[in-house]
Order: sequence, then C-alpha cells, then structure tokens
Amino acid sequence: MSNYEYLLSDINSINGVGSKTSKLFKKKNINTVFDLIWSLPQSFIDRTNTIKIKDLQIGKVQTIRVHVIKYSFPRIRNLPKKVLCEDDTGKLDCVFFNSYDGYIKKILPINSEITISGKISYYKNRYQITNPTNLSSDENSIKKISPVYSLTDGLTLKSYNNIIDKVLQNIPDLDEWLSRRILKKFNFITWKKAILELHNPKNVNKKGVFLNRLIFDEIFSNFLINSNIRQKIKKTKKLNKVFDNKPLNIIKEKINFKLTNDQLKSIEQINLDLRSNKKMFRLLQGDVGSGKTIVALITSLNVISSNFQVCLMAPTEILAKQHYNLTKKLFPKDIEVELLTGKTDYSSRKKIIKNLETNKIKMIIGTHSLFQEKIKYNSLGLVIIDEQHKFGVKQRKKLSDKGGKNCDVLVMSATPIPRTMIMTIFGDMDTSIIKSKPKNRKEIKTYSKVDSKIDEVVLFIKKQVEKKNQAFWVCPLIEESKKVDHQSSIKRYENLKRIFKDRVGLLHGSLNKEEKDKILLDFLHQKIDVLVSTTVIEVGIDFPNANVIIIENANKFGLSQLHQLRGRVGRGVKDSFCILMFKDNLSENAKKRIKILKSSNDGFKISEEDMKLRGYGDLLGFKQSGLKTFRLADPILNEDLFILAENEIKNIENENQDISKYSELMKLYDRADILNDLV
Ligand code: ADP
Ligand code: MG
Repeated sequence: MSNYEYLLSDINSINGVGSKTSKLFKKKNINTVFDLIWSLPQSFIDRTNTIKIKDLQIGKVQTIRVHVIKYSFPRIRNLPKKVLCEDDTGKLDCVFFNSYDGYIKKILPINSEITISGKISYYKNRYQITNPTNLSSDENSIKKISPVYSLTDGLTLKSYNNIIDKVLQNIPDLDEWLSRRILKKFNFITWKKAILELHNPKNVNKKGVFLNRLIFDEIFSNFLINSNIRQKIKKTKKLNKVFDNKPLNIIKEKINFKLTNDQLKSIEQINLDLRSNKKMFRLLQGDVGSGKTIVALITSLNVISSNFQVCLMAPTEILAKQHYNLTKKLFPKDIEVELLTGKTDYSSRKKIIKNLETNKIKMIIGTHSLFQEKIKYNSLGLVIIDEQHKFGVKQRKKLSDKGGKNCDVLVMSATPIPRTMIMTIFGDMDTSIIKSKPKNRKEIKTYSKVDSKIDEVVLFIKKQVEKKNQAFWVCPLIEESKKVDHQSSIKRYENLKRIFKDRVGLLHGSLNKEEKDKILLDFLHQKIDVLVSTTVIEVGIDFPNANVIIIENANKFGLSQLHQLRGRVGRGVKDSFCILMFKDNLSENAKKRIKILKSSNDGFKISEEDMKLRGYGDLLGFKQSGLKTFRLADPILNEDLFILAENEIKNIENENQDISKYSELMKLYDRADILNDLV
C-alpha cells in the first residue's frame, strides 16, 4: 500500500475500529484515515489544574471534581437529560441530548466522586456542561495534559484517544510538495510534523505555524485544480475574433448614459480575450445594478460583427425577456435576435432551431433550457451566462466544452464576495470586476422600523405612490412551513389592498409560472404600484421605476441577502429607500447588521462583514450549491495564505511546471472528484 493509499483507506482499516465504531465515525462524515486526522483536538485538559465550581469560566473547557447527586431523565423525547452534581462551592448540571440512560449512568454513577471535563455554559442560574467527559475512568488521565476531541457520542475519550494514537503512529512520510520558497515561510515544517504537533498537548498555545502549513496545503491544492482547468481550457486554440470600434459606437449612441470606467475596463479586458486565439473563460463580477448587461451586449455585438453567433442564458424567463427587449432596442435592425424559453411554441421553436443552424439568427437569448435544447449552432462564438453563481466548476467546464472550440465563455455574477472567495469559487476563470456604480446612482437610504410603526410605513408608501413611484414589499418565510408563509403575505396583501385597492399585487411560491410572470410584468408596466412578495424577488430584473423596498422580518435574512434585496431599488435617478422591519426586541447581532447596512452600500464590504458574522459557508447559499468547503481554511481569517497560494500558483504557471507532480496532493485533499471529471 502506498503512503497515500493508507491515508485514503477506509476508517475500518484501523486496528481496533470495528463496524460499530466505524458507523459512529461515518455518521460524522469521517470516512477515511485522512478524515480522522482533521478532527484536531478542540482543546486540552490540563489536569494539573482542577477548578472549583464557583471559579468556572463560561465558554472555556475546564476540569472539575464533583459529587454526582441526582438524575432527571424526562419522559418527553427531545428534552435533554440532566445530572445534578456539586462540590463544596456550588452546583452544576451535566446535560445530555439523545444519550441513552444506561450510558449516562455508566459515566456518571450516582453518589460517586468523579473528575469531569467539558465546555462550561450557564443556563437558568446554574453552570452546566453538555456531554461531559468522565476522566476518572480514563486510563489516560495519569497523563497530566491530554487532548480533548469532539467526541462521537457513544465513544469514550479513552477509546477515541487510542484510535487517534494508532493513526498518528502510522502516519507516513510523504514526499514534500511545497517549493523551498514556500516551505521557508513555514519554518520548513513538513506535513507530517505539522499533523503530529497539532495533536500534541504540549502545543496547546502554539498551533500557529503548524496549522498555517496545513491550511496552506488545503488552499494550494484547491487552487492547483483551478489552475489545471484554466490551463486545459486555454490550451484549446480558437479562431480569434476580428472587430473594430463600430459595434461599441453603435451602442454608445443609443444609450443615454456614459459608460463607467470599470465598464470600459472590463470591455477592454474582454476584447483582448476575444481577439486572442486562446479560449476566453471569464467572470464579470459586479454588484447589483453596476451595469453588467450593457457590457455583455457590447461584447455580443463585437462577436457578431466578427461573424460568430452568441447565446445568452438568463436564470428566469422574465430576465431573458428583458435582456431580449434591450438587445432589440440597441442592436442594428438587420441583426436577427431571438428569444427561446419554455414558453416558445413548437413551431416557432422549430424555426428558431433551424435558423440557428443556417446562421440566420445571430443571437439567441433564453433560459436554462437553451443548455438542454438540441441546438446545432452554425458558428457559436460566445456563451454568456447571467446570474448563475451556483454553477459549479464542473458545470462551467462542461459548458465551455459544449460550446465548441471557437466558443468564448463569459459568466456574470452579482454575488459580491470577497476576493479570497472569488479565487476559490471562480479560480478557474479570469475575472473582470465592476466596482464603481454608475455616477447618477444615489445612495439608497436605509431605515429600520419596529413592526408597531407599520402605519407610518404605509403612509410613506402612499406618498411615494402619489409621486408615481413603486414599492416592493417583502414578507419572508417566517416558519419553515409554506402555509404560514403564505398566510403572512396574504394577510399583508389584503391589508394593503384596503389602501391601494387594485394597485397592489401578490407574488408567492404556489403561483404557477404564468401567474408569476403576469404579476411581475404588471409591476414592470406600472399597472400596479405595490408588489407584495414572499420570497426573494427574481434576481437581476430591472424595475427602474421602483424606489422603495420594505423588508418585513428583516432579521431572517443575512447581510448579503439584504443588500441584494435592497439592490432591487435605486436603479433610476430618483431617491430610493429601503425600510427594514423588525419585531421589538433586536438582538445585538441584528443591531450590528443594521448598522453595517445603513453605513455601507458596497456589496463587497458588506459580504466581508457578513462572512465575519456568519462564516463563509453560509454566504448566499453556497453550501447548497455543492461547493466543497474547506476543513481548515477560512477566506477571511487566512486571507494572507490565500494570497500566498495564489502567487505560488502564478509562479508555477509562469515556470510552466508540470502540474501532475501535485496529483497526489490534490487527491489527498479530496478534490479527486473534480479531477476525474476532467479527463
Ligand atoms: P446588473 O449589473 O445588476 O446586471 P444592469 O445591467 O441591469 O445591472 O444595470 C442596471 C441599470 O443601470 C440599467 O437600467 C442600466 O441601463 C443602467 N446603467 C448601466 N450602466 C450605466 C451607466 N454607466 N450609467 C448609468 N446607468 C447605467
Ligand atoms: Mg444583471
């Protein structure tokens, strides 16, 4: 067995791990020996230092010697089981969720004197420890200091430590994959040494350099994969596109605004790619309302004037329609543009497909179904994907392949994410960023109001409507039940109907597509003034006349989401407003978030704050998108290591190093699935 194979072998290949134990591990997603290594000790128990109950510190892992007094095991399921303990200075509860009575009685026998350890919390005037560790029965406790792992329920500290000890003894020496210039930054600590030291109780307060070495490995292997994809795509030679400034000028003449510097810069970067004979694989990143569409359309016209076809894919029908209308307005009449969505009838569809094949149609705009459709393009030169931040690396690569060898790819996303995240999620692409918003944009004034002041809010909307303005009214999911969700929006809708009569519309999840589209169009065409909606209003649609958004239960949303919602307004030149509504008692956290939103309109800054408050995995549902999250690395905390890794990748690329020498590293770090998909 090679060194790597041992690390990637199943957890049950460890001596002493039987089927029962391995099941426990697998429940925690620990499947291989390698996985196990990553459950680093949460803390260390220092038994030289047993504490009295009155001196306990909340939030710390501490060790106490107690007398077990009383069990209380409620009959109602889901209620925690408690064991009351005391010493001569006070009382403490040991709390268990989902543990068997027998197990509890075994580790905390009534009337016994035992030493227990765990994280201290405080509840209803009493200290407590959830799932404490009984140390008296633990042989290891002869050692003065020992590591504490987050225990798999049903496994004792003793057996866990035995297993970990065995694994650590067998950790192989691996060939070094880091270059000397990087190793130097980590004091030449090897991968193996870093692991061993991190599990060593002696290093309780000096994890720094060991941990950093491992975090770097993780980021580095992730970036290597991205680099690999990028290089594969760039290796495909394509026909370069040939065009001049004419298309740009045609569009410039038709719009009544000046392009921002960032828009112009992005266009330049894209043009360089189009004119080269390497495939473009580029992300156009820009906050909501930063004006990505116009960049996409100028690019499209450039490609068309170079005698290629363009396909533009939007996430929803309405957005596709809106892009289509704008394109028709801006493009010269002799360029045929078509819209193809789920609604397109059979005969039109057939005609469109035929005309794409004969090159009569130059640009096709549509939804996701464009991707599935059996379309044979005559000469596809560019695919643009709008607002598809949930497209993973694999899907993008597939798309690029499917487009054929002359097809460039432009992905647009309004997800304002910090640079380290862009490097991670879109690291396989080159990026253009539109940071500055159009000059005529005014700040969106953001207010918070408690629910009881709703009358003031309604009055405010009334005044706006009198000025011919429009408002969004968002009632988010309150409970995880659709029924309740609808009720709250329906109630609000009926409430507002009394005031705004038939000038208010309701959009909720159980409407079908047609009904939904009709209401959105009514709003767009100003047949209604107020749009009540349950969930997030379709991303990307431009409602230039709407200038107010009310968000009820605003604390249900993360910062980035609130910012995205707020971005639905403030696109025109008029003053616009965002009113966040809350129940009376705001938590500290909620207060912080409102403050950030009020003080900033910069999506990138807000997303960084959001990550600090919530952790990066939660950011805008990336977790659901199947994105692999890191075990150790944190895009905010470890920004310097991300940048170091990025520079190292650049060095490797510039030196034209053969990336296959890192294949084992990449396999080790769980990215094998992506690799396999690429061959
Ligand atoms: P997003 O980047 O969110 O896709 P859009 O492309 O939909 O933003 O643009 C939002 C609005 O801003 C549109 O109404 C568009 O016409 C307008 N717009 C785009 N660029 C500029 C600019 N340079 N100056 C003023 N308005 C602009
Ligand atoms: Mg857009």
